Amino acid sequence: MRTITTKVMDCLHFIDGAFVPSANGRTFDNVNPATEDVIGTVAEGGAAEIDLAVKAAKRALNGPWKTMTANERIAVLRKVGDLILERKEELARLESLDTGKPSWLSGTIDIPRAAYNFHFFSDYIRTMTAETTQMDDVALNYAIRRPVGVVGLINPWNLPLLLLTWKLAPALAAGNTVVMKPAELTPMTATVLAEICRDAGVPDGVVNVVHGFGPNSAGSALVEHPDVNAISFTGETTTGKIIMASAAGTLKRLSYELGGKNPNVIFADSNLDEVIETTLKSSFINQGEVCLCGSRIYVESSAYDEFLAKFVARTKELKVGDPFDAKTKVGALISEEHYERVSGYIKLAQEEGGTILTGGKRPEGLERGYYLEPTIIVGLNRNCRVVKEEIFGPVVTVIPFDSEEEVLEQVNDTHYGLSASVWTNDLRRAHRVAGRIEAGIVWVNTWFLRDLRTPFGGMKQSGIGREGGVHSFEFYSELTNICIKL
Ligand code: NAD
Repeated sequence: MRTITTKVMDCLHFIDGAFVPSANGRTFDNVNPATEDVIGTVAEGGAAEIDLAVKAAKRALNGPWKTMTANERIAVLRKVGDLILERKEELARLESLDTGKPSWLSGTIDIPRAAYNFHFFSDYIRTMTAETTQMDDVALNYAIRRPVGVVGLINPWNLPLLLLTWKLAPALAAGNTVVMKPAELTPMTATVLAEICRDAGVPDGVVNVVHGFGPNSAGSALVEHPDVNAISFTGETTTGKIIMASAAGTLKRLSYELGGKNPNVIFADSNLDEVIETTLKSSFINQGEVCLCGSRIYVESSAYDEFLAKFVARTKELKVGDPFDAKTKVGALISEEHYERVSGYIKLAQEEGGTILTGGKRPEGLERGYYLEPTIIVGLNRNCRVVKEEIFGPVVTVIPFDSEEEVLEQVNDTHYGLSASVWTNDLRRAHRVAGRIEAGIVWVNTWFLRDLRTPFGGMKQSGIGREGGVHSFEFYSELTNICIKL
């Protein structure tokens, strides 16, 4: 039985510049995964609310948002970033209450990065150009860049504000209007973001938020709406397939950031102490609930025993528990359903012949909340489901390898292709291996080092298209070529 012990906030939709409930008054509970308490209610939107929001966004395309100068738009978007920073403590607290992640993580990464997304893309407006072509005296061709129109942004729960702003900032910078559908499990910071946009001077109707679920709810209504011109979606690969099928009816432009089963490839010549500290992060930060987390760890045989001994010892030291304790490294998983799913993979690993070297269970003394110890599994081969399927929790497998060819074959034996990290001090091998891994992002001797100008996205079933810098602008703008006979 869930109880409301600490009311944090109720979340309403934000449509045409006003906070509103659902037409039918429906709400659902928002649960804090660290305590299992209900911390508020969330308006449950559906086709009716999506339609209102899309209509408002469509009207706003031709309102003051269109007539603003570039400098005015830059100032508004910078102000959104500034206000996010001003409200950083509050947003970090809400993000941790919604997700169960450590509050130091929300405060040092999620929220500052959300502000930076706005600062970065507002600056980027100044650099945007389109091409001019004049080959001879017959014709002058030039292209103009214009907004795509009303864009739907559908978000997952793992990095709520960071990922929402990673879409919203470039969509607005390119002049679009948006309807956002935050993940049902993490509605709070998206609600505050709507308020921040209003306070920063974003005109009514330009930014709309409709809460609700995915299938047969707000999510699918957004995808199917005929006046939505594009959908930027981050979430599971299986959801991406469903959305692609339902977007076909109105032939929408799609940007996809999907799931991953990312490899870390560790050669014996790398600096093992550095490898282990980074691998702890790439495995267990945010409870392993980051699409870029490395969940398949391949270690060259000659370094395997030493790596494992040190990696297991350091993992055992990670404090699991209260997200608001500054010493906590691993908080709670997002929901009971996800906790059961991740635990199911740990059980499956044992059935598939794996050995759990550490973790695999609820930490002692934490009876409430969806807490799971960081888990290291060995003894599985490439055909095991635990090695093949995305788990999206604090669970990694470690597998030894003998040669570059052998490890590359295993690494690429997956439908996913999001990211990888390669560890070696051999310069030629680093380039050789990085260039052959089938992934959209390959780090060498590091992990999660990001420059927002660079292309971000996945190959194979990990995504379609790229986000970041000019790549985001390409998605969020249309080019019209104008040809003048001379
Ligand atoms: P999910 O696919 O279950 O849900 C994502 C969003 O889609 C939610 O807002 C949900 O309500 C909505 N949705 C679900 N079904 C829908 C439908 N039929 N129509 C429209 N909308 C629908 O994903 P999740 O569990 O929230 O997030 C975890 C997944 O996201 C993992 O697979 C992870 O790898 C992936 N992810 C990828 C990236 C990336 O950049 N590649 C980043 C973060 C998370």
